[in-house]
Amino acid sequence: MPRMPRELNPNWNGGFYIDSYGYKKILMPENPRADSKGYISEHIAIAEKAYGGPLPSLAVVHHHSKTQLILSENQSYHLRLHKRMRAFKSCGHAHWFKCYYCKQYKDPVCFNKPYDICKPCKKLSRKKETCLPKNMSSTLI
Ligand SMILES: [Zn+2]
Ligand SMILES: [Zn+2]
Repeated sequence: MPRMPRELNPNWNGGFYIDSYGYKKILMPENPRADSKGYISEHIAIAEKAYGGPLPSLAVVHHHSKTQLILSENQSYHLRLHKRMRAFKSCGHAHWFKCYYCKQYKDPVCFNKPYDICKPCKKLSRKKETCLPKNMSSTLI
């Protein structure tokens, strides 16, 4: 079984563990965001360091990538970031929406409402249509 002896982990400081989401938790009992056992997520500690003090109470630290953290003003903004991140991962366009019917990411011009059913799916019963992004469709009209 592959395992990593903790002595070889350069980050080992005797006071952290990895939680069920894969986040590293470090022991900082004096931090206001610490849980009942005195641990906070490592990315929060990093963000506070960069921020220069305790974060605003509603702020959520978004783990953008291994090296990038984004401070979002509240949880709903944070969830929006995640939607955009999923879209970007799936189709390369952060602002595209996923159609709940065909499960495909498409340009917002293909939707009447964000995250709704896309226009081509609405007409699916009649004929197959492809929906083109704005800049492409203008050349076809
Ligand atoms: Zn996040
Ligand atoms: Zn669709």
